[in-house]
Amino acid sequence: MEDCLFCKIVDGTIPSAKVYEDEDVLAFKDINPQAPVHVLIIPKRHISGADKLKRSDDKLLGKLVAVANQLAKELGISETGYRLISNIGDDAGQSVHHLHIHLIGGKVLNWDN
Ligand code: 5GP
Ligand code: ZN
Repeated sequence: MEDCLFCKIVDGTIPSAKVYEDEDVLAFKDINPQAPVHVLIIPKRHISGADKLKRSDDKLLGKLVAVANQLAKELGISETGYRLISNIGDDAGQSVHHLHIHLIGGKVLNWDN
């Protein structure tokens, strides 16, 4: 989609530090990491947020989570623990309106909110 930051990362217009890619999914390091491991897992197809997923996207969502779990293993945080987060809307602080799952770990995480 035009003017979508993460679509531009998918098409390579904007560079990213990729950690995983297949035909449906891309994962790359967050530019402003909140923890030693902070990766964003996104569908290549533009979906504006998790609230816009349809039942026909069930398989895609399963794949996004499976990739997140695989990356947690590869990045060495599967035993210590990690958090998967998808922010939806203003109160949650969603700033990029292309569905993404944050994979965050590598330290003890607070639950401030
Ligand atoms: P949100 O606030 O929508 O849940 O998360 C958006 C995330 O995208 C933020 O953690 C932010 O640091 C990250 N981000 C914003 N712009 C870029 C960028 O150009 N490259 C990368 N790799 N991450 C970005
Ligand atoms: Zn997009």
